[in-house]
Amino acid sequence: MDHFLYKNGTLMAEDVLLSEIAAAVGTPFYVYSAATLTRHYKLFTEALAPLPHQVCFAIKSLSNVAVLKLLGDLGAGMDVVSVGEYLRAKAAGVPGDRIVFSGVGKKADEMRIALQGGIRQFNVESEPELAVLSGVATSLGLIAPITIRVNPDVDAKTHEKIATGKKENKFGIPISRAPEVYALAARLPGLKVVGIDVHIGSQLTELAPFEEAYAKVAALTQTLRAAGHQIDRLDLGGGLGIPYTRSNEAPPLPMDYGAMIKRVLGHLDCEIEIEPGRLISGNSGVLVSSVIYNKAGEDRDFLIVDAAMNDLVRPSMYGAHHDIVPVTEPATGGATQAYDVVGPVCETGDTFAKGRALAKVGPGDLIAFRSAGAYGAVMASEYNTRPLVPEVLVKGDQFAVIRARPTYDEILKRDSIPEWL
Ligand SMILES: *Cc1c(COP(=O)(O)O)cnc(C)c1O
Repeated sequence: MDHFLYKNGTLMAEDVLLSEIAAAVGTPFYVYSAATLTRHYKLFTEALAPLPHQVCFAIKSLSNVAVLKLLGDLGAGMDVVSVGEYLRAKAAGVPGDRIVFSGVGKKADEMRIALQGGIRQFNVESEPELAVLSGVATSLGLIAPITIRVNPDVDAKTHEKIATGKKENKFGIPISRAPEVYALAARLPGLKVVGIDVHIGSQLTELAPFEEAYAKVAALTQTLRAAGHQIDRLDLGGGLGIPYTRSNEAPPLPMDYGAMIKRVLGHLDCEIEIEPGRLISGNSGVLVSSVIYNKAGEDRDFLIVDAAMNDLVRPSMYGAHHDIVPVTEPATGGATQAYDVVGPVCETGDTFAKGRALAKVGPGDLIAFRSAGAYGAVMASEYNTRPLVPEVLVKGDQFAVIRARPTYDEILKRDSIPEWL
């Protein structure tokens, strides 16, 4: 459920007309609904309520500081995968003891900043990383709380580019080697083991792969405790999928996910940490664009819009589907037309949809790409020197630009011509 609904024939973000934002900001732009973000975050806290827990929002899915402040004020922790994201979380007022640092390639400088600024835990992904973190912590006279990310070798049954829990993936250490890696962690100075971490992929549409992975984590918890390690916290990663089409998809609900976690891990007396990104942010945002041209091709009709692959890359990167709807509500049973919806970028891959049946629209009409809140604005670039797409936050009848579109002057000033040229 989200808060982008038609009222009086026009699409709204909560109580704000998308057309009003478009007039103020220009297109394309992303708009997020505070009520939807709040609702989705609370689905997880309610689902985990029977267990001690901390929900850490995966910032990489939507990293605007205003959104992080909204979630942080509700009590959310943050899962970060770079020091840049760490600094975003801090800028949003999230205390260090609610920030988890994930990622396979943390550098010493990043570790130093996070250790000095305060951190809940590092999710360590390799033995070399353990050694570097131990060195950094020791040099600062600090103790780094850690989990080790284990790779349980389960098939997440999702898109290959976002599956992370198979042995051929770069993530974590093989779960079979966990005992020796935990033994190494216990020997190294400056580290304190607090738990185990696992994350098997993104956009999972079944609970079974999660359950398979979590059962392996439950067994490992007992093995490691028997070897004398203190395992108080289980970080179960993110990955719960969302429906991208309104019609037939029904990914598992957070409530059922929570019940499964309690069933599989509840007896271990651990604090449960989860790192959802997409399920909180995905359906909380839409990308609004204007039609530039209708172009008749030889065997198809192109709808050329002013958003492009640089603004929303998921269709060209993953072949992802986004529902596309006109901002002016089409008459029920009105005529539709099949369009190839494309952007202005000079690549054939700049295609959002092929042969998509839409109500007839023409130049100047506004359309919205739904479910674009996650992995949308964060992946945007300025390819083709198209200014970075702005972001807007709506709450009730209020809206504000939370990242402005840069001017062409600002863009050009970032380049410099060397004196010797
Ligand atoms: C990407 C990622 C997440 C979030 O995944 P979603 O599918 O957006 O929920 C959580 N944890 C880690 C370690 C990740 O890399």
